[in-house]
Amino acid sequence: MTELPLTIKEHPRAKNVLVKLVPGRGLEVVVPRGYDRTQVPGVLQRKQGWIERTRRLMEADGIQLMRNEELPERILFRCIDVERRVDYLRKNAKVRITENGTRLLISGDMKDRDAVMTVLKRYVAGQARLHLPSRLAETSRRTGLEYADTRIRTQKTRWGSCSSRGSISLNAKLLFLPAELVEQLFVHELCHRKHMNHSPAYWRLVASHQPDYRRLEEELKNGNRFVPGWMLA
Ligand SMILES: [Zn+2]
Repeated sequence: MTELPLTIKEHPRAKNVLVKLVPGRGLEVVVPRGYDRTQVPGVLQRKQGWIERTRRLMEADGIQLMRNEELPERILFRCIDVERRVDYLRKNAKVRITENGTRLLISGDMKDRDAVMTVLKRYVAGQARLHLPSRLAETSRRTGLEYADTRIRTQKTRWGSCSSRGSISLNAKLLFLPAELVEQLFVHELCHRKHMNHSPAYWRLVASHQPDYRRLEEELKNGNRFVPGWMLA
């Protein structure tokens, strides 16, 4: 197996050494403040079996662990059936993104990868704000389940959440998922307006709006496989 990229992070409140596998970033080792870093290889050695097992499980789920900073030539938003071609123009200027019909142009200093990634992710978040709230509103009308407001976030692990005050958070990365999975997430969060738990009564309500919910919930768990690597990094 190829070696995973390794990051060591110091955390002031960490008591023990924690080894994690992070999508798009590889191995992350969290150590207490002042920890002797020469110990890290030994720790990884002892955890080797766990690391390999977990890595295989994650990769089987389509989760990319390697850093993939290859710039996309196309961006496919499955949820809204929109594809954008991306062109790059190298020039001596601050990195910016412009939209022209079905094309995106990123121009500026391409060596500044962080800046390129930032404009790409900001574009995705902007598109999510443009398209996801109205679709959620549609599902709300169809199901008769109401909510207070919605916000778009770019969380690492959750597709959405619903607060006790009825505010629904949606992950911008939902745009990359097939529409039926996004619809399932909407139904899932809206049903929390009646039950703030995952009780049998809650799932009965979900089933009344989406009989095929079991399959869809399962696919949603592996939804990261639809998200391009540059977005996970
Ligand atoms: Zn839930």
